[in-house]
Amino acid sequence: MPPALPGEQSLACEHCDWLHQERALRAHEKALCVRCGGVLYRAWPDSLRRTFALSLAALALLVVANVYPFLSFSLEGQTSVNRIVSGVFLLWQAGYAPLALLILFSSVLAPAAQVGMSLYITGPLLLGRLPPGLARVTRFQLALRPWAMLEVYMLALLATLAKLAAMATVEPKVGALAFVALIGVSTAAISAFDPRVVWRRLEAAR
Ligand SMILES: [Zn+2]
Repeated sequence: MPPALPGEQSLACEHCDWLHQERALRAHEKALCVRCGGVLYRAWPDSLRRTFALSLAALALLVVANVYPFLSFSLEGQTSVNRIVSGVFLLWQAGYAPLALLILFSSVLAPAAQVGMSLYITGPLLLGRLPPGLARVTRFQLALRPWAMLEVYMLALLATLAKLAAMATVEPKVGALAFVALIGVSTAAISAFDPRVVWRRLEAAR
């Protein structure tokens, strides 16, 4: 397909590559592909403000999930309380290095990167400024979206718990509750973010 000419405002459908002319939408409207019916884009009202607020909430939950106790294990009268980081360390020591790395990546590093980039993008834009490297950070954040897979971590955790439950009493603590809330809030933050707002701001600044 020939590339769109600058100023033409052409938009390719991400499902079938059909080219469309972009037009402004009213709040909550979505533009559908005329060929395959896939969603081209949506008009989220107040995208920047909502993404910023949800990302701040996600940051707070991420801190709570990592700083406060996550689970307590009771086995033969002995109770131990674990944080995510100590769980990663224990798994590593027990020889489960891939699982330890998966948990570290999906429960600490990926959400921290996601939240950090969301705040870096939306904070300055809300103040009417363009942060350095805005286009690159936005592209990187969009590429990282499929990797913000907190659910994978929860599945790994539940599978481990199911095994442990046979021999120990396992109780979720504040950190685990914060983590469950984090999954909901960060998913909401990701879907509230409309990258088209960023491209429009960059275009206007040229
Ligand atoms: Zn299409």
